[in-house]
Amino acid sequence: MPEAKGTALITGAASGIGRAIARRLAEAGHRVVLTDLDLAGATELAQSLGEKATALQLDITDRARVDDLPNLVPPAFRPIEILVNNAGHDIGGRTRFDLGKADDWSSIIDTNLNGLMRVTRAMLPDMVRRNSGDIVNISSISAIRMVPDMAAYTASKAGVRAFTDILRADLAETGIRVTEILPGLTKTNIILKRHRGDKAAEQEYFERFKIALDPDDIARSVLFALDQPAHVQIAQLYILPVNRW
Ligand code: NDP
Repeated sequence: MPEAKGTALITGAASGIGRAIARRLAEAGHRVVLTDLDLAGATELAQSLGEKATALQLDITDRARVDDLPNLVPPAFRPIEILVNNAGHDIGGRTRFDLGKADDWSSIIDTNLNGLMRVTRAMLPDMVRRNSGDIVNISSISAIRMVPDMAAYTASKAGVRAFTDILRADLAETGIRVTEILPGLTKTNIILKRHRGDKAAEQEYFERFKIALDPDDIARSVLFALDQPAHVQIAQLYILPVNRW
């Protein structure tokens, strides 16, 4: 049985990368609060992890609920020492900007950037009070590699990139560490959702790239950053499949 470690709250924990992070952290001895739009998925995962996990419904674009998030965490899971900002989507992505739907790009920015910032804002005061904590933001390789037809997603992730650096600087006088993880293409449902459920388009997408990462590849990187001694801050990690540059 691993020793007890800090409690983590993970957004978008019901599927893909968030799910893998939740599993890895729980296996490493962290207690985990699994939040997602999909309460049934988060609950099912929490039950499989046992007493060290609990599930909460959370839409990170729901301002009132996000502001109340610290009060929604069950007392037995406080304080939250690690925040993993993972929830995100790319619905309607890969469309020439002028041909895409404005509602799609505003939803992408609202979730991937505004939602992430708001969750961070809600959870920070307690970490600042305690002068310790970890914030791990899952951005994307898209934040630095500009891919055509992905304007909103790229803008949202470049925003997370910049926000994470400024946050690290803002918190430099505290003991809080701020880490950005930039995954390359990873096999999750985000691609299927991007193509609005079109399996053939998803298949073609993955075939074009031949190799994609597994969600657990990203989860191991998160654990690597968290497992450093308290005076070591992993600022950024780019994770790419071996055949990509
Ligand atoms: P998934 O779609 O598998 O997981 C994303 C999770 O976030 C889902 O459970 C989704 O719920 C949830 N979510 C979406 N919107 C919200 C919201 N408003 N509030 C709360 N939860 C929400 O995708 P990934 O695991 O791939 O994505 C995780 C993160 O990794 C994202 O930030 C993504 O941008 C990033 N990323 C992914 C890459 C990839 O190639 N897969 C590459 C680089 C970065 P629901 O299923 O109900 O929509």
